[in-house]
Amino acid sequence: MSGLNLDELRNQVSGDVIGPDDGAYDEARKVYNAMIDRRPAVVVRPKNADDVVAAVNAARENGLDLAVRGGGHGVPGFGTCDDGVVIDLSTMRSVTVDPAKRTARAEGGATWGDFNDATHAHGLATTGGIISTTGVGGLTLGGGIGYLARGFGLSLDNLVGAEVVTADGSVRTANDDDNADLFWAIRGGGGNFGVATAFEFQLHPVENVYGGPIFYEVDDAETVLRFYREFIADAPEQFGGFPAWQIAPPLPFIPEERHGEPFLAFVTCWAGPIEDGPANVQPLLDVAPVVAQHLGEMPYPALNSAFDALVPAGLQHYWKANFVSELTDEAIQAHIEHGPKVPVVSSTVHIYPINGAVQRVAPDATAFAYRDANFAPVIAGMWPDPDENDANVKWVRDYYDATAPLSEEGGYINFMAADDQDRIKANYRGNYDRLVDVKREYDPDNLFHLNQNIRP
Ligand SMILES: Cc1cc2nc3c(=O)[nH]c(=O)nc-3n(C[C@H](O)[C@H](O)[C@H](O)COP(=O)(O)OP(=O)(O)OC[C@H]3O[C@@H](n4cnc5c(N)ncnc54)[C@H](O)[C@@H]3O)c2cc1C
Repeated sequence: MSGLNLDELRNQVSGDVIGPDDGAYDEARKVYNAMIDRRPAVVVRPKNADDVVAAVNAARENGLDLAVRGGGHGVPGFGTCDDGVVIDLSTMRSVTVDPAKRTARAEGGATWGDFNDATHAHGLATTGGIISTTGVGGLTLGGGIGYLARGFGLSLDNLVGAEVVTADGSVRTANDDDNADLFWAIRGGGGNFGVATAFEFQLHPVENVYGGPIFYEVDDAETVLRFYREFIADAPEQFGGFPAWQIAPPLPFIPEERHGEPFLAFVTCWAGPIEDGPANVQPLLDVAPVVAQHLGEMPYPALNSAFDALVPAGLQHYWKANFVSELTDEAIQAHIEHGPKVPVVSSTVHIYPINGAVQRVAPDATAFAYRDANFAPVIAGMWPDPDENDANVKWVRDYYDATAPLSEEGGYINFMAADDQDRIKANYRGNYDRLVDVKREYDPDNLFHLNQNIRP
């Protein structure tokens, strides 16, 4: 091992410095995906940006790998490493709201649950993910797709600035005026450019929403998916939602005798005037017979945490993804062939819409390049039993092999696997060369390489 001196690091860091001999080590080295089992030299849980600087310097000066963890949800396990330094930001989660300016400042380890709770108190929200335990950090730096994306753009489109600790140990402000190239790159470039210790977001008035899940028979999936493709092209932008393959969980609104069967579900969210909700969801109730539904008015954070229980920490994860411009008849057939084979209740495929406000941003305005794609599907294998790894990975791969040729070459970096590193250029299209330039400027030695890596 290197000359890393944990006592020296403890003197520099006000938060926790957890080494292999500490009682907290086994819990601290874990990430959300239970397939990942790594043993870092140290896990630093910082209290502030100065602690992050100390950890970044320790990794650089000792020639160690450096992993950065926000919410810990990253499926490829880049949030931990063997023998290196892990910066676990879960101790930096505060969110403060400025209701007059309609902005929120979130520390780098905040989850969407932390964020939504703070902003909802002021009747405000911004685009986040659909599970409340996911980190603001990883999700925003890669893109940020959720219920509000058609109306307000990706999470990163709502970013107005960030505080970033770069590889040289400097704390930098990144926004349109300061380090504008860094600001451009972190909006889609993932964790390649430094540790974001804080994010500042634009907020929007969103309080209660109308929506919830609808379940259809597998036999009606073709009708529903064909309808979805047309409907979402010009549905009002306050409508967010997506079709999903879903095994029926044992919930009271689903007939008991159907629990455990696969369905095509549609998760809906109307974020416009609440009285207009039922009319805007009605087309999805009319398109095919409904087996079960659970629609109603609810606080936005309630919808954002409604499915958390389906995906607890500690499942095995393997995900694949491509962007899709056109959901062709052939693609729908591929979904219908593989979707109903979804092996377990926690696994799913979501076909997220990314039109509306997402497409009004120019492809070179931020690092996120796929501004003309209409859909971001994800094949999300998430299963409890490690003995079932082969069967579950095979389901994801078979599904992916059938749909990838009918999709764009690139995909959303936040839905990709560790074996997708060779697709990095395709993910960024014409923005790739500029990303390399910015990487050379801020991280010439690729200290931040545990990510979908942009090589300097
Ligand atoms: C259950 C589940 C639901 C999801 N739902 C959605 C969804 O609705 N919409 C969507 O767009 N995506 C979704 N995702 C994908 C999600 O965007 C990625 O997994 C993302 O990487 C998670 O971020 P995190 O901070 O939780 O994870 P982490 O594992 O902590 O971070 C992933 C990577 O991002 C970087 N990173 C994280 N925080 C920082 C930071 N503060 N500074 C610098 N780098 C950082 C690091 O490189 C890190 O390795 C979901 C994932 C899961 C597992």
